[in-house]
Amino acid sequence: MFRVFKKIHKKWHTSISQVPLRRVHRKRVGAFRHNRARYDSDKEIARIRVHELLTQWGPVIGVRWKRVSIKAHRSRWGSCSAAGNLNFNFRIIDLSAPLAEYVVVHELCHLRHLDHSSAFWAAVAQVMPDYNTRRAALSRWTRLHALHPNPPPVA
Ligand SMILES: [Zn+2]
Repeated sequence: MFRVFKKIHKKWHTSISQVPLRRVHRKRVGAFRHNRARYDSDKEIARIRVHELLTQWGPVIGVRWKRVSIKAHRSRWGSCSAAGNLNFNFRIIDLSAPLAEYVVVHELCHLRHLDHSSAFWAAVAQVMPDYNTRRAALSRWTRLHALHPNPPPVA
């Protein structure tokens, strides 16, 4: 079940072009080796931001999560496991508040529906009626700035 879910989930979250990812990945690994301190501090900022949003939205959606991890995913903003653990991309710190909020709400709603069924999207829409606009904006952002630690500055 979890496997199937991960597969579907990955499909959705990797709507970015697959082509530059390998190149980006090499750059990413290099950047981490030379700037580990910067990565660690970005991760801590992300952790604080994610926790603020979880604390704000968890009770609204009526869910509780277990462990939260902040990682450097290559192609996802977040994920949710069947065990109730949440993962978020540390690059969430580069998103505008409405988009970061959407990422967190999306993963929190997965604690209720572990798929992208219509019930899942209905749960998202219930707490965030404009989620579709945010979802489209997030897609655009992701296409413009591939998920790696040293993207071009946001205009
Ligand atoms: Zn999802």
